[in-house]
This record gives sequence, structure tokens and C-alpha cells, in this order.
Amino acid sequence: MQRNLLDFDAQGLAAYLAEMGEKPFRARQLMRWVYKEGESDFAAMTDIAVALRGKLAKCAGISAPEVIREELSDDGTRKWLLDVGTGNAIETVFIPEESRGTLCVSTQAGCALDCTFCSTGKQGFNRNLSVAEIIGQMWWANRRLGKDIDGNWQISNVVMMGMGEPLLNFDSTVSALRLMLDDHAYGLSRRRVTVSTSGIVPAMDRLSDECPVALAVSLHASNDKLRDELVPINQKYPLRQLLAACLRYLERAPRDFITFEYVMLDGVNDSVQHARELVKLVSGVPCKFNLIPFNPFPHTGYTGSGSDSIRRFRDVLMQSDIVTTVRKTRGDDIAAACGQLAGQVRDRTRRTLFHTAEAA
Ligand code: SAH
Ligand code: SF4
Repeated sequence: MQRNLLDFDAQGLAAYLAEMGEKPFRARQLMRWVYKEGESDFAAMTDIAVALRGKLAKCAGISAPEVIREELSDDGTRKWLLDVGTGNAIETVFIPEESRGTLCVSTQAGCALDCTFCSTGKQGFNRNLSVAEIIGQMWWANRRLGKDIDGNWQISNVVMMGMGEPLLNFDSTVSALRLMLDDHAYGLSRRRVTVSTSGIVPAMDRLSDECPVALAVSLHASNDKLRDELVPINQKYPLRQLLAACLRYLERAPRDFITFEYVMLDGVNDSVQHARELVKLVSGVPCKFNLIPFNPFPHTGYTGSGSDSIRRFRDVLMQSDIVTTVRKTRGDDIAAACGQLAGQVRDRTRRTLFHTAEAA
């Protein structure tokens, strides 16, 4: 059975090579080839001893999930549909901007948390992704996008805002994060890697202990009653606990604020009263708000707030000195926006697999 080297973080790779009688610096050499160069062929790793290259070729490989489909938006956003086996697919999105390139990665196939406005949630939970399936999204995207004229990969930021709840796939998520941060792998700064969570309080504390990175919290409501309904995990970790966890997280976070995400649902959570309640709720927590226009999907009961409501809502927060941005919708023409990923993925996967079967 071949070992997929993308499943190891630095420590794991060093241990694996130690079992083969190799010194720790070999792990660093290997990581540089795999991540910095995007190499998957051991034969090309010229500064690694020929004997070790031969051994690795026999018992190991470098394998990212297979790409089923690639779509390119008019605005440059790219979306890849990746096969993770047994009829499941996940999506990865690359969003180029003037001063940065952001990769949005998935951490689970589906999600168990069933937020009412999220199509991933509506799809149900299938399984956790492995480390190789998480970091493999970046490995693949880097190879596909290539390097810029300075020899740097185009991905400068990562957000774990694709499918799934990263903190419910904790160990694999943290190993993948470590590879993103490791100087021998991608070497991104902690400030440029963001985990988005619906608020898994104990796991937020663990993340702060084990791998503090920038944190986005999906708030979406200004009181427990409403949040219980929209984000059902709130029944387990209500707002008081969640906000206390945010404060604890900030003690060690690489950024001195939490980003609160707030999806704007017409007539549900978008009134001026909600905005005022929100200001009170988060007073005392250093934060920024990111208002997300709702991305509709088939059979959703919701409508997105109009631009006037979004503006009014933003103004209330801004008047209270809370920095508030309204998320730009990118990749609209290829349905690449948050929360839109899953339902279509499933359908398409079925279709794609079906066509493949037909063609075979
Ligand atoms: N599970 C994590 C990360 C993935 S979801 C979380 O919930 O934070 C990433 C973001 O997309 C979250 O803020 C989520 O609430 C938001 N989102 C989900 N469905 C959406 C939709 N239909 N329209 C807009 N944003 C949505
Ligand atoms: Fe899961 Fe996040 Fe979607 Fe909620 S919003 S169902 S936590 S992916």
C-alpha cells in the first residue's frame, strides 16, 4: 500500500522517513520539492539520494484529489470540482484580486450542522476530508495556476470557507494548516490563513492552543432565539459562550480582531433593530463585520436582502465604529460563492459520474 505524502505534516513526514532510517533534513528537502516546487515525481528530486528516491517511488506517492471539472468566471475566479471518491465531490475556489490571490478550501464532504440558509448544510454530512484531500486542494491549485514572474505561487491567502465545518474535522484541518504555515511548505503568515467556524466553542480553544490563525465566526443573528433557528449549533454553544470564546481566542490570535460573518436574509435578520441589537451584543469584542449577500440555491425558503437594507444595516454598525465590509460577490456566473457549492456539486457529480459511466 502506497503512502500518500500529502497526508503528513512536517512532524509526520520526519517520523515516516526516520522509520526508513533517514535523517530529519530529508523531510525538509522532500517538503520543499513537494510544496515549493509542486513536484510529484521522485525522479525529478535531484538533490535527494538516488537510493532514497527509489525507495520512495516504491512505497510512497503524492496524490491530490482528482479534478472532475474546472470553471473560469468572467472576473477571473476559478472553481474546481474535485472527486473525493464514492460519488462525493468537493469544491475549491480561487479568487484573484489586485494585491492577493485567495484560495477557498473545503474541509468536509457535506456538513452535519444544517444551517438553514446553507446548501452544504442541506446536503447533509458525508465524511471528513483527509489531510491530503485538504492540502491537496492547494497543491493542485498552485500547480494549475503556476508561479508569477517573481517565482511565487499566486495563492497568498487561504480561507477555510468552502464546504464543511473545519473545527469538526479538527486534526486534519490543523495538519493542513501547519503545512500552509510551514516555511518548508507554503510558508504563509498566520494572518493570511483564516478558519471560518459556525462556533464550535471547545474547538476554538483548541485551535488557539495548537495552531492560532485568523478566525472568522459565522454569527448571522443578533440574539439566541434567531441564531438557534438559523445556526442550530447555537443551541449547544449559545452566544454568551461563543463571544467569551472569541475573547479567549484573541489573547493568542495573530490578528487583534475577530471577523464576524453575517449573511443578509430579507425580513429575517436584516432590520435596523437587528443591527442595533448586534452592536450591543458584540460590544467588548474587538471585531470587524463582513456582511454576506445571500446566495440563493434551489428550494431555499430565503431571499437575499436588498442593497438598501444591506446599506442601512452596515451604516448602523459603522456609526458604532465597527469596521464593516459588504462581501463582493465573485464568480457569480460559475456559482462559486459561499454556501452555493454543495447542492450543485452533488447534482453535477452524479451527472458527471453518470456521463463517465455512459462513456465507459
Ligand atoms: N462551516 C463554516 C465554514 C464554511 S461556510 C462556517 O459556517 O463558518 C462559509 C461561510 O459561508 C459561512 O459564513 C456561512 O455561513 C456562509 N454561507 C453559507 N451559506 C450561505 C449562503 N447561501 N449565502 C451566503 N453565505 C452563506
Ligand atoms: Fe455547515 Fe458552515 Fe454550512 Fe453551517 S454554514 S451548514 S456550519 S458549512
